[in-house]
Amino acid sequence: MAEETIFSKIIRKEIPAQILYQDELVTAFRDINPQAPTHILIIPNKLIPTANDVTAEDESTLGRMLTVAAKLAAQEGIAADGYRLMINCNRHGGQEVYHLHMHLLGGRPLGPMLARRE
Ligand code: 5GP
Repeated sequence: MAEETIFSKIIRKEIPAQILYQDELVTAFRDINPQAPTHILIIPNKLIPTANDVTAEDESTLGRMLTVAAKLAAQEGIAADGYRLMINCNRHGGQEVYHLHMHLLGGRPLGPMLARRE
């Protein structure tokens, strides 16, 4: 069994977070340390530790994460200018919290997708 993270407590509203959306499959809330004017995390309610752990059973949840991202981007007023959706996986991906989450980042030009190597 995977260990719960702080995100499970946010889903259950045991610790505070600015929750923008919640349904039976997913929860979306503002990142505590925003890297852009809009920085929202969209997560499955079910504990899936990493992108490596998704299964066919999760496809409706994963699809919901995208439709909620589009809805929130429109709500935040960043849909037309654009934004970035990002999922980090494990150490090389820079994952810090082991509960799958999609970052929705926008509100300013975000630059190239990866830092350029010198
Ligand atoms: P990762 O690096 O795993 O892709 O991203 C984890 C994200 O979760 C980071 O952007 C971090 O700021 C955010 N985060 C970590 N702990 C909390 C928390 O307790 N509340 C909220 N709202 N965001 C958190």
